[in-house]
Amino acid sequence: MSSGARHAEIAGGGIAGLTVATALAQRGWSVRLHERGRELREIGAGIFVWENALRVLEGIGAFEEATRRAERISSWRLYDERQRLIQDDWMKGDQTRLYTVLRTDLHQALANAAIRAGVEIVTDSLVAGATPEGELLLESGKVLKADLVVGTDGVGSPVRNSLGLNLVVRDLEDGCGRHLIPRRPYDPVNNALEYWNGGRRVGIVPVTPEQIYVYTCCPAKDLAGRRTPFDKESWSQSFPGLRDVFERIPDVSRWASFSDVRCHGWVRGRTALVGDAASAMSPNLGQAACLAMTNGYALGLMLDGAQDVPSSLLAWEARQRPVTDATQKYSRLYGRVGTRWPRPLTDLRSALVWAAGRSKAWQERVNVAAHQGAELVRQNDQA
Ligand SMILES: Cc1cc2nc3c(=O)[nH]c(=O)nc-3n(C[C@H](O)[C@H](O)[C@H](O)COP(=O)(O)OP(=O)(O)OC[C@H]3O[C@@H](n4cnc5c(N)ncnc54)[C@H](O)[C@@H]3O)c2cc1C
Repeated sequence: MSSGARHAEIAGGGIAGLTVATALAQRGWSVRLHERGRELREIGAGIFVWENALRVLEGIGAFEEATRRAERISSWRLYDERQRLIQDDWMKGDQTRLYTVLRTDLHQALANAAIRAGVEIVTDSLVAGATPEGELLLESGKVLKADLVVGTDGVGSPVRNSLGLNLVVRDLEDGCGRHLIPRRPYDPVNNALEYWNGGRRVGIVPVTPEQIYVYTCCPAKDLAGRRTPFDKESWSQSFPGLRDVFERIPDVSRWASFSDVRCHGWVRGRTALVGDAASAMSPNLGQAACLAMTNGYALGLMLDGAQDVPSSLLAWEARQRPVTDATQKYSRLYGRVGTRWPRPLTDLRSALVWAAGRSKAWQERVNVAAHQGAELVRQNDQA
């Protein structure tokens, strides 16, 4: 442990780890980040980045780079199996911004911000766990002492497991395929479209001037729906109007299952959890990574000048957690309605979704992370 700058050891070089590392390093901490992979790498296609996370990107100086090729989204339309528009004002009159960004662009912009801030990035470094006293335990047997340890090591988090913080770590038994397809002049501009039929959902979202991000969600037990390579025929039968979109999906595509992680706490002594390690959720509201960034940035701000690291971590958790817990709950609900609703009752589903869309109070509750999360970033910035 250094006697000058306070020192942090961070496990995991994903979106959460890079954000916390940068926020701390920009505030004078010496930061070492461990990534098990041979290089820092992000997989996946596009990602929704809401107001709360956009403010974090601005805060750490990564906004321009992350959004250089991104698409600003101003409306999100939802259609049911009878091609009826059942939600169109999800974002109308809303001051919160939403961009869709290539995952690789976001990750690279965060990695560059971390490097600029002086974060030491160690690849091929496998973390085995951590202790409440601020020790990071490497698989090699090395023990690294720090003023702060952060577990940003994803859903399977060895840091969380070693501290006994697991409450629920659950496969939600649904998931989706993520695809990038070439963009055509007649594809949507500044619009996100989502189509539902039974337990299947298709999202069509512009993400760069050349590419459209397509997600195809279904229950895990829908074997044709989750097949790789992507089963164009089966999906065209469910959504005949989208055949042209499915034809553009490349054969190399991947299926990702959704998980929920809930913890007894995000903090034990000098060690904290951020991102999927603490609060993985289904991506139905496009907020899991955004909250990882919001919470990671807030952690950096909360520890700025703080003398007592364990108490500051507890204060950080108390402040950030309610919005994350609420978003996780609504995301799970969205998944149940979208993927598990009984087929004979889909008209009722459409009516309920339509009614929910008309309620401003309900919309604000579901989208609490973009609203309140952004407000928390602002308050933290001013504190
Ligand atoms: C299909 C899908 C769509 C999504 N869409 C959105 C969206 O639109 N908007 C949104 O906000 N969120 C979205 N999410 C969620 C988002 O992808 C995650 O919340 C986010 O990537 C989590 O980042 P993280 O850094 O916490 O974890 P991860 O991305 O899992 O990163 C963990 C890192 O830690 C490393 N690691 C793991 N174990 C070890 C170890 N033992 N030692 C060292 N390193 C280790 C891993 O290699 C990895 O680099 C989506 C998720 C899915 C599955």
